[in-house]
This record gives sequence, structure tokens and C-alpha cells, in this order.
Amino acid sequence: MEKDAHRGENVLTSEGLSKLDPKLTKGEPHFWPNPSKQSVEVAFNNAPSPSILVDEAADLWREYAPLLAKLFPELETSNGEIRSPLFDLTGVTDGPRILVKADHLLPLTGTIKARGGLFEVLSYAKRNAIEHGLLRPQQPPERLAEPDVREHFARFRIATGSTGNLGFSVGLAARTVGFQVEIHMSADAKPWKVERLRTMGVNVIQHPGDFTAAVAIARESSRENNVYFVDDEDSLTLFQGYSAAAVELAEQFASLKIAVSGDRPLIAYLPCGVGGSPGGVAFGLKHVFGDNVCCVLVEPVAAPSVLLQVAVGEETPISVYEVGLDNKTLADGMAVPAASLLAVRHIKYLVDAFATVDDTSLLLRTNELWTDHKLRLEPSAVAGYQAFRALATDPRRPSFYERSMHLIWTTGGSQLPDHEFEHYLEQARALQSLS
Ligand SMILES: *Cc1c(COP(=O)(O)O)cnc(C)c1O
Repeated sequence: MEKDAHRGENVLTSEGLSKLDPKLTKGEPHFWPNPSKQSVEVAFNNAPSPSILVDEAADLWREYAPLLAKLFPELETSNGEIRSPLFDLTGVTDGPRILVKADHLLPLTGTIKARGGLFEVLSYAKRNAIEHGLLRPQQPPERLAEPDVREHFARFRIATGSTGNLGFSVGLAARTVGFQVEIHMSADAKPWKVERLRTMGVNVIQHPGDFTAAVAIARESSRENNVYFVDDEDSLTLFQGYSAAAVELAEQFASLKIAVSGDRPLIAYLPCGVGGSPGGVAFGLKHVFGDNVCCVLVEPVAAPSVLLQVAVGEETPISVYEVGLDNKTLADGMAVPAASLLAVRHIKYLVDAFATVDDTSLLLRTNELWTDHKLRLEPSAVAGYQAFRALATDPRRPSFYERSMHLIWTTGGSQLPDHEFEHYLEQARALQSLS
């Protein structure tokens, strides 16, 4: 990304940055309560979208379920629902209640991106079919799985820019419905992720530079070529798709008789890249649980892009490079130098705090959660667990910490190839033997 030296200077002396913990620029893990945080009522009044979009999203997912069951045989048993299990990791001793929202086990893609990517592709498919007279507005969308609609969709192209997981969700959904698909990836994309997409008939285009650069090129080329672009940095539809996860969680809580209240708040730890998925989920959680949920967005020490953007305000786009960080992390899904401004506008008054985590801890936790709980996670997906662990001894932890329940959102990893996963475990064991 081109750096504007003059702007960088202003930013570095701006009032926003003075609120930051010096640990941020040193790349040290820390917990940072959001100084802009407001009550849910005030925060939603100041958000660019009404919180009703969460319920709309849940309704739309219900509407899409029969179509999904038709498109994907794997979803027949769940009647087309894309849901993840909720686990309880609470120990037998007195410790806090620890819950895991296991999005790494989401059907089809094994990552949280199923919630955004599939939602946006189906929403576009429906709109496209209505515009071209192939579907009536009130008609059930199962029709979209029929051969003549498929043939029609083959004339259209969908694109996105991705570090991998979003590309897979969008690619899978769009290819299955019948669209042509183009996925733009950064140079550091994992070869197996590229291969997996090519096998599905996706056109993968790799660009030199980082994620933000890949997205910018993809956006531009999509506009020139009349391609529908799923914009990870600027899509309300993606955001909305993620937000419905909170409605699903509330249903699970209700059936398990888990009550969230002022006496028993919930702290949710959400791994964060551009901010779309954790932002959408946080937006949904606040809609559902109000002020009784505390949302912590967790980012790598080298890429705290959303934290930084919330600190300086969304009028001044900033990247982590401008404060001397390098965006180098093994947490794939979170290696993002610049935030989604759409996400920041939606969550800047809602999110309670940010936490940053280092790669070494992510590797150790990946190994630990596998060994102790058989959770097969990619390093990004253990970020929430690491933040939870670190918070226990942090003097800045919230006053209600002791009486809270803790919700760890595990965002991906069940579909990692064995050699990839083994490699993370080996790295973790090597670290352990050093200490
Ligand atoms: C994408 C992703 C995230 C972060 O989501 P953003 O929408 O980029 O903030 C976290 N974990 C995993 C595994 C992901 O794929």
C-alpha cells in the first residue's frame, strides 16, 4: 500500500493515537478497552444501519435453507441450515464457565466465512434471477437450483479478494449455483488454498503485495469488467450474513437454559481481520443480549488494523504500516493491514475492547486445544482463547470479569489439510521444548 508520508505524520500526532497503549507499536500483546464505547442504545442510534438487519438476516437464512439443502447434499440432514455446535469447556473445578462457539465446524467450509460468503452469493443470485425474470420476488428460492437458471448464471461472473477462507466460501457457493468465479489472492496465499479453488473451476489470480493490495486490484478490475464483486472491506451483505450467528447462539443458549444477565454477563472473544466477521457477530450479539454482552475483538500483534482504525476514527484511513508494524503473522485469516471502514462505522461505539495476541501463543494454544479438547483449529481460530487466557491476569480486565461467562469463537481449521495442521503442532512442540 502506498504510504502518504504527510498524512502519516498527522496521524502519528493525532489525538486518537495518544489513547493507544505504547505496547501497540512495540508489537506486544495487550488488552485495550475501547474509549469510544457507548451503551447499546446510544451505539445503535449512531450506527449507519439499524439493528433490525440482524433479524432480517436470520429470516433470509431460513428462506435460503431449502435451496441450500438442494444445492449441497451435505446439508440434507440439517435441512439446509448452516449452524455450528456450542461446546462447554468448563472444568470440573470452580473455574469460570467457558463456552466455545465452534464455527470451525460449520458445514461446507469449516470457517466462519460460510456465514458471510454463502449469504452474499445467494442474495446476489436471488436478485439477479428476479431482475432477469427467472424468479418472482415472493417465489421460494429453491427455483435457483434448476438447470435453466444455472445456465443463465453461467453468463455472469463473481469475484472477491481473499487471503483464502472467504475465497473458498464465495467460490464454493458461486460455482455450485453456476456462476463463473474469479478469486484474487495475495502473494502469500497458501498453495493448497489456491489448488483447492482451481479444482472447483475457479479462476485464481495471485497478486504481489498484501491482502489490502489484492482487494484494491480486484475491486478495480471487477468494476471495469462488469463483474459482481464481494467486497470484504465494504459489504453490508457479508456483515449481515455474519450477524445472524447471534440469533443462532441465542437459540442454543435458550435450549441449554443459559441465561445472560447483568449478574451473569457474557464476554465474547472474536478473532478479527478486516473486522467484518467479528463486527457482524458483535453487532448481532449486542442486538440480542444488549449491554449484558461484552465483545472483545482479537487481532495479531503485527496487524491490529481495526483497533488502530477505531482509535484514529474512520475519517482517517490508516494501515498498521504507518505505526511501524509489519502485518507478518502466521494467523492467515487475520493478516490484514487495514480495516474495513464499513465494519468500523458499525462497531466503533459497540465494541467493548480489543486484545492483541502473538504468534507464539497462537501456536501453543493450537496444540493445547487439540491435545486437551480435540478442537482442530487454525492459529487464527485460537486467538479468542488466547485473549481469554491473557485477560485473566490483566489489570485492565473488566470489573465484571469474575462473574462472567466466557464465549470463545473458534473461526476455522477443521478442513486444514493434515500436513498443514501437523506442521502447526510440530512448531508448537518445538516451542515447548525450548521453554
Ligand atoms: C476471516 C477470518 C477471520 C477474521 O474475519 P474478518 O472478517 O477478516 O475480520 C478470523 N478467523 C478466520 C479463520 C478467518 O478466516
